[in-house]
Amino acid sequence: MQLLDGKSCSEQIRQEIAQQVSKIIASGQRAPHLAAVLVGTDGASENYVAFKVKDCAEVGFKSTLIRMDETVTEAELLRKISELNADNDIDGFIVQLPLPAHIDTNKIILAIDPGKDVDGFCPANVGNLSLGLPTFISATPNGIMELFRRYNIETEGKNCVVLGRSNIVGTPMAILMSRNTNPGNATVTIAHSRTKNLVELCSKADILIVAIGKTEFVTADMVKEGAVVVDVGQTRVPDSSKKSGFRNVGDVDFENVKDKCSYITYVTGGVGPMTRASLLQNTLKAHQKR
Ligand code: NAP
Repeated sequence: MQLLDGKSCSEQIRQEIAQQVSKIIASGQRAPHLAAVLVGTDGASENYVAFKVKDCAEVGFKSTLIRMDETVTEAELLRKISELNADNDIDGFIVQLPLPAHIDTNKIILAIDPGKDVDGFCPANVGNLSLGLPTFISATPNGIMELFRRYNIETEGKNCVVLGRSNIVGTPMAILMSRNTNPGNATVTIAHSRTKNLVELCSKADILIVAIGKTEFVTADMVKEGAVVVDVGQTRVPDSSKKSGFRNVGDVDFENVKDKCSYITYVTGGVGPMTRASLLQNTLKAHQKR
C-alpha cells in the first residue's frame, strides 16, 4: 500500500505557484488577488477560510476576507457579489458554503461572474467542464486529478466508482474521470443514497472515490484487492484529547481498508491540502486570464 500524500504534493504545487508569482511581480504586474466571503461563524467554515487566507500569503497572493453576519439578507449578499464582480483588483472570489438556510445558495452561485468563479461552481463553468472546454474546475475533484497525475495512477479503462453525487465533488469528479484525458478515460459509475447493492458495486471498483460525509462508511468488504481508494469525507467528531476538541474522520475505515489497497488517501494530509492547492491554481489562472 502506498499513501497518496496530498500534503507533500500540495507543497510542491504551492512552491510552483510561488515561483510564478515572483515572475509576475518581477514583470511589474500586481499579485493575484483572491477574496473570500464568510457568512456567520461556523467553526469548520472559519477554519477553511483561515487556511485559504494563509495559503494566499504563503504563495504571495493578496487576499481579502469579507465577513458578513449570520443574519445578512440574501439581497445584501447579492449586492456584495455584484461589488466583487465589478472590482478590477480582485481576480477571483469564493463564497464559503454552506450558507445560512434563509439564503438560496443557487441564487448566490448564479450571481458570481463565471470569470471570477474560482470555486468552479457556476453553471457556465460546470457546463464547460462537461464539454471539455477551458474552465475553472471545482477544487476538490481537480485536486484529486492532480494527485492521480503526480503519482502516475493509471486510470484508462479502469472501473471507477464515485460514491456521492454532490454538485461540488461527486458529479464533477465523475465527469473528469470519464473524459478522454489522462488521467481520465475510466468507466465511471456514480453511486448515491438510492443505489442498490453498494457493497457489490464498490467491491468491483479499481478506483473508488468516496464523498458522502458518513464516517468510516466504506469497510474492507467494499474494497477490491489492489484498488485505489480516495477518501474525500471529512466529518468533525468530538475528541477531548485534542486541543481543538474534535478530530476529522473520513468516509473510509482506513485502518481496515488500507492493506487491501495499492494506493489510498488518509483523511488528514490527503484530499484536503490538494483542494486548497487547487483553489490557488484557479486563482492564478483567473489572474492570467485577466
Ligand atoms: P453532500 O453534498 O452532502 O453529498 C453527499 C452525497 O453522498 C450525496 O450524493 C448523497 O446521496 C450521498 N450519500 C449520503 N449517504 C449515503 C449513503 N449512505 N450511501 C450512498 N451515498 C450516500 O456532500 P459533499 O459536499 O459532496 O461532501 C461529502 C464529504 O466530503 C463531506 O464529509 C465533506 O465534508 C467532505 N468534503 C471534503 C473536502 C476536502 O477538501 N477534503 C471538500 C469537499 C467536501 P443523495 O444525493 O442520494 O442524497
